[in-house]
Amino acid sequence: MMKVIGDPDDKERSFIYLDNALYFEPIEHTIPIHWSGHIMMSKIDEELVERAYNGKTSIDDALLLLDTEPFELFRFADNLRYEAVGDITTYVVNRNINFTNRCVGTCGFCAFKEKNGYILSTEEILAKVEEAHKAGATEVCIQGGLLPNAGLELYTGILEAVKEAYPSIHIHAFSPMEVYHAARTSDLSIRQVLSELKKSGLGTMPGTAAEILCDHVRRELCPDKLLTAEWRDVVTSAHSTGIRTTSTMMYGHIESWQDRIEHMMILRDIQKDTGGITEFVPLPFMPYNNPIGKKMIEEGHYATTGIDDLKVYALSRIIFHRHIKNIQTSWVKLGKKLAQVALYCGANDLGGTLMEESISTAAGANNGTSISVQEFEWMIKGANRIPKQRTTLYEIDNMRDTSLGNRPREAGNAAIYS
Ligand code: SF4
Repeated sequence: MMKVIGDPDDKERSFIYLDNALYFEPIEHTIPIHWSGHIMMSKIDEELVERAYNGKTSIDDALLLLDTEPFELFRFADNLRYEAVGDITTYVVNRNINFTNRCVGTCGFCAFKEKNGYILSTEEILAKVEEAHKAGATEVCIQGGLLPNAGLELYTGILEAVKEAYPSIHIHAFSPMEVYHAARTSDLSIRQVLSELKKSGLGTMPGTAAEILCDHVRRELCPDKLLTAEWRDVVTSAHSTGIRTTSTMMYGHIESWQDRIEHMMILRDIQKDTGGITEFVPLPFMPYNNPIGKKMIEEGHYATTGIDDLKVYALSRIIFHRHIKNIQTSWVKLGKKLAQVALYCGANDLGGTLMEESISTAAGANNGTSISVQEFEWMIKGANRIPKQRTTLYEIDNMRDTSLGNRPREAGNAAIYS
């Protein structure tokens, strides 16, 4: 039995289901794919493929996909990536600013906080924004540790100072944990805090502090951090206040694949309710210089492997298809070469130029803290994709556009995202 999946007229991209096996080659050039069938699944179930195309991948589907031959899984995710966004790969010119590394938190995975660490003054923050502005950044990403007496005015003060000096720059700032902390220390509701932050100039929020959204993991990993329902409340309240967020998952420590998949399902549910998530960013755990990582390494459990990283990217593209359009790969955590390979496993965005990075670096990432636009474009063209600079909200009109010359491609199928 042969069945064409996708658009039968698009011979470049449709694939076929033939004799109970799924082939991801262009129809005209289909050749059998060989794999170690006694260990791996020999095919992806046709109904599972159709559910994925319709945005209905289940937890069981995702678990089943983990047994698929990796390159088959990657190819499947890559086909969905093409349907979602075409061959455009985006990046943002931005700067990270971590305004303090002091923190009252007790996260067991943290290598960033320091007892006698720094607190940047408003002038120091503005000097960093000035540098970013001069370098053409459209965004500053501002986050920090939890200062014991940090009330709402600390956060609104930073926003107002930056906005007054640089009204055009987009402020992407403050994790759900920082919002929760500001509410707690100021005796205000989450919604009151979010509303004040928005009035003071907050554009969007990073969906960090998510780690793994399973409370049994959080109680061990970050016992003082907000719980899953609280994280969800901050993020959905942000969306209803008109503040969009990214979404993240820090994986590769004490969680299982089931936990990872359930985490992604929670994010998908949020997105179905609010539509406020701009992207998903999988972040592999860095096991150096922190207590959880030290224990793992003593037990012979090191950082995530490249294959597992790529499987997370592929699975996220499949689970989020028709819901979250953009999957961002982290060059800081993965390294530039594996981040480029992730573009063939479902990812379509390389994140930001950053200019400085200290959180992953403190935990052992050694892939640099800054990347130029030229190098981003080199990486993207080297993957035979079309580089485009974007804004925080993924607008690409009027931004940098370097085409691939004689390989014009369309930009995916925006209509599949309602
Ligand atoms: S991860 Fe963030 S909240 Fe947790 S201890 Fe480190 S700086 Fe504090």
